[in-house]
Amino acid sequence: MQNKENYEPKGLQRSFATPNTGGPQRVLVKPRADTGVKNSVTGPGRECVSSSSSSPPKKLSIDDFDIGRPLGKGKFGNVYLARVKKLDAIVALKVLFKSQMEKEGVEHQLRREIEIQAHLKHPNILRFYNYFHDRKRVFLVLEYAPRGEMYKELQKYGQFDDQRTATYMVEISDALIYCHEKKVIHRDIKPENLLLGYRGELKIADFGWSVHAPSLRRRTMCGTLDYLPPEMIEGHTHSEKVDLWCIGVLCYECLVGNPPFETNSHNETYKRITKVDLNFPEVVSDGARDLISKLLRHNPIDRLPLQKVIDHPWVRANAHRLLPPTCPSKTS
Ligand code: ATP
Ligand code: MG
Repeated sequence: MQNKENYEPKGLQRSFATPNTGGPQRVLVKPRADTGVKNSVTGPGRECVSSSSSSPPKKLSIDDFDIGRPLGKGKFGNVYLARVKKLDAIVALKVLFKSQMEKEGVEHQLRREIEIQAHLKHPNILRFYNYFHDRKRVFLVLEYAPRGEMYKELQKYGQFDDQRTATYMVEISDALIYCHEKKVIHRDIKPENLLLGYRGELKIADFGWSVHAPSLRRRTMCGTLDYLPPEMIEGHTHSEKVDLWCIGVLCYECLVGNPPFETNSHNETYKRITKVDLNFPEVVSDGARDLISKLLRHNPIDRLPLQKVIDHPWVRANAHRLLPPTCPSKTS
């Protein structure tokens, strides 16, 4: 068995179709001319192919995998630990039922998730290796995150200390700088969507809500409201700065154990978010308060930029993983 740490199942990094999600702003990812693969995920005839343009198209199938234990349950199917037989590599195989996705009308969301995640390569972003499908199911071949969901860890420990939280802030900021450079906004940063790697490093997963910036889209109000920024609640257009708000909420939730605007009613939570009704319990240090207050600003342009999060004194004093500070001339 291959070492799980830093393993890269090279044979899985094939070129594949860019699903046709439409929209003139989608300039980041272009279908590769040499794949010979059709541009859709759920229609007939889609195949995953080898990266070598000279070799004939090779269809991945469930028979290429040994399926192990379930890792978790998603809305449209389950996720399993799996071994790629030929490569002896461990992956996570996410199985989605087409019928369930069609019923909910979320095929476009899956296409977007695949389109975006497949083109992102960063140590703090869960790698997407490939996909294939059969008559009933779509299979996503993903990097395996051995330490599971951050959300479960937070439930287990109640809250995280400054060191752990600051390290997460460096990792997520670095990953989001990379996404934003590629004009990708995640829009759904929260502990349920953050997985943990072999050494406990953060991995952003679940790009189902992500878009290419700028976006006029409005999010359907479902799931947790606690991470929604004021501009999304108020129905304004939003930019990549929504992710700055979300990491402010995340930083608070990591240190305190619950998100800052949590209430028992949706309406009350909306109100608290739009007023930025922010209170800190004693446990939060002055440095962390300063950082969170600079991220949770109603006006998106007032929010602390990601590089300044990495350079923030509380982050630099506490994070285990330090990135080079910004050159002062660049930030001024
Ligand atoms: P939901 O929208 O309810 O979050 P989903 O369809 O997005 O569901 P996932 O969140 O991707 O499904 O997966 C369900 C669970 O499986 C996760 O909460 C996590 O515990 C586990 N899981 C998913 N992907 C991985 C992975 N790559 N490595 C380890 N565990 C994983
Ligand atoms: Mg999820």
